[in-house]
Amino acid sequence: MGIADLHIHSVHSADATITVRAILKQASDINLDVIAVTDHDEIRGSLEACKLAREYNLEVIPGAEITTKEGHLLALFIDELPPSGCSLIDTLIAIGELGGIAIAPHPFTNLPGSLSMKAVVNALTHPSAKTILKGMETHNMSTRAFNSAAQRLAAYLPLAKIASSDAHVYWAIGAGRTQFDGETAQDLRRAIEANATNAIPYDEEFSARAVFKWARRITLRQFGYVSDSPSASQPINTQKIIQPFKKIKKREPTK
Ligand SMILES: [Zn+2]
Ligand SMILES: [Zn+2]
Repeated sequence: MGIADLHIHSVHSADATITVRAILKQASDINLDVIAVTDHDEIRGSLEACKLAREYNLEVIPGAEITTKEGHLLALFIDELPPSGCSLIDTLIAIGELGGIAIAPHPFTNLPGSLSMKAVVNALTHPSAKTILKGMETHNMSTRAFNSAAQRLAAYLPLAKIASSDAHVYWAIGAGRTQFDGETAQDLRRAIEANATNAIPYDEEFSARAVFKWARRITLRQFGYVSDSPSASQPINTQKIIQPFKKIKKREPTK
């Protein structure tokens, strides 16, 4: 069986502190077979991870977390960024045209960026969109206090069950794992499309110390610092990135 974490943010997301190489190293160290780097409306970090993956003995699925009018959507197996700011249905169709599939991240939580049940059912009854929306997160480590609705409703929806870390910091990678038959990215895609994945939640509580370290890293991130530190227990070991995030050119959402 293969193990994947399909929802990880790199420094190409304004709210994440992990460099692409740090993601790959950690994912490899904890024996993940497949990962996806899914930055907010940004694919450069993901494509960089794909190029470097072989050095780290794992497979990277190119992807992004797209902002739709109804909430966030994970686009996987795409090599171009679909437009953001469109309706969920139009975004799903755009992902399909790029050869990809989509997963509803942290759905039904009522948090900002969370797709509603109505939006998901609407997509699942649309003749084109339903062939692209193939999975939903029943477990998202970052929204772990709000996942119960997704877990209850998952049984009624024709969507593969996915557990993801939604990691924005180094040590959260792998906190939420999806198990599948086989070990390659294509095996995983087949399993998702056949609704045959197994979501393995993270069962370890974050300590107050870890939360403090997380807050410190996120604060430093605002000043352009990112981290390659190998673990939460080691000194923060930040390095200044070449340019603060604000200077990285962001795509404007297409209207
Ligand atoms: Zn999100
Ligand atoms: Zn996310």
